[in-house]
Amino acid sequence: MERTLSIIKPDGVEKKLIGEIIRRFEAAGIRIAAMKMLRLTKAEAEGFYAVHRGKPFFESLTDFMSSGPIVVMVLEGEDVIRKNRELMGATNYKEAKPGTIRADFASDIEKNIVHGSDAPETARTEIAYFFSEMDIC
Ligand code: ATP
Ligand code: MG
Repeated sequence: MERTLSIIKPDGVEKKLIGEIIRRFEAAGIRIAAMKMLRLTKAEAEGFYAVHRGKPFFESLTDFMSSGPIVVMVLEGEDVIRKNRELMGATNYKEAKPGTIRADFASDIEKNIVHGSDAPETARTEIAYFFSEMDIC
């Protein structure tokens, strides 16, 4: 069993996609092990995306991520890091496979609906950014 962090970004919440995205996870056999809605401060968004500090899109990305409520989830299942990334589709929605969340709903490389951890180590640190072990069912 593996765990990963999923975020429905402010654009996904704004577009009323919370239910649709969770439906896709559950239909793929992924278990929701923790979930909450919150709004990041600018500083919290900068902390979460610290690996991207210095990149040209960092300012805009952290403004966007702190612009409205998000839904953060711990997903659990076999090979769930890869499975979630597959359901999400490529970062750039133009390159995302048809039927993926980003291909279906994103219309901007930055405002791309969802986030998913990309490796076991990042999954661990990203989950710990939002949840304590007691929050995870
Ligand atoms: P995420 O980490 O959000 O799951 P990702 O792993 O597919 O997405 P990263 O390379 O980690 O992509 O980039 C993090 C986020 O930064 C992207 O999801 C997107 O919102 C934004 N981003 C990435 N590249 C660009 C870019 N060239 N221009 C604008 N925004 C970008
Ligand atoms: Mg990433």
